[in-house]
Amino acid sequence: MITVENLTKSFPGRRGAVLALDHVTLDVPAGAVCGVVGPSGAGKSTLARCLALRERPDSGAIRLDGTDLVTLGGSQLRAARRQIGVVPETRALVRQRTVAGNIALPLEAAGVPGPARKDRVAELLDLAGLTGRADDHPEQLSPGQRRRVAVARALAGRPAVLLADEPTAALDPDSGGAVLTLLDRARAEEGVTVVLVTHDLTVARRVCDAVTVLDRGRVVERGALLDLVRDPRTRTSAALLP
Ligand code: ATP
Ligand code: MG
Repeated sequence: MITVENLTKSFPGRRGAVLALDHVTLDVPAGAVCGVVGPSGAGKSTLARCLALRERPDSGAIRLDGTDLVTLGGSQLRAARRQIGVVPETRALVRQRTVAGNIALPLEAAGVPGPARKDRVAELLDLAGLTGRADDHPEQLSPGQRRRVAVARALAGRPAVLLADEPTAALDPDSGGAVLTLLDRARAEEGVTVVLVTHDLTVARRVCDAVTVLDRGRVVERGALLDLVRDPRTRTSAALLP
């Protein structure tokens, strides 16, 4: 279970500070797919970067199974980062490496021995529906397949949490759908907790159990996705519906 408590983050702006996150509180139950949705500039990516421990909030806590990750430093911070897989937004794959070689990267970095690495890569290729493409290079794949390789790589070290910020961006509906199916399989088969950031409620609808709606740095609504779609309680949520 991840709990975010009163997370606040501001950035200096030309007309004073921009409050990107304003006392954001949310719970992500273990083994769920949770959506973070909201319009452009709502603070979704800032929240994702804080959750990924790539950005330090000004105040607030991020607890993973009770431990506040915000206060960690040094080797504890590096260990905590390994608990959180991040699906990178773009141009993330190493061109010189094959698909299998890309997925193996975090395992090599962690010193996983060759045979165990091979087994894990084979498992992930299967999960991502890319078994026949192991020896291809990224440029031989479609954009959607490349995104699936990036998801598989993020899963390689068996993180507790998988963070995906706009994982279907710039993909056609079928390729985007395949990425969402992979996130759902990762939850079901690997038990990973998924946080899916999207400005598109139809994307969230495909896989999320619950959603948190952000607007101008604040949580304006949260709950089961179906309730929100049937009966949005805020204008922000209503505006996100097709
Ligand atoms: P989008 O849907 O467009 O990706 P978002 O919900 O992800 O939007 P953020 O990128 O988190 O929004 O930005 C939230 C606010 O914080 C915006 O006003 C943005 O301009 C500001 N902001 C984000 N990152 C920085 C930064 N590194 N420096 C300055 N301001 C920033
Ligand atoms: Mg964003």
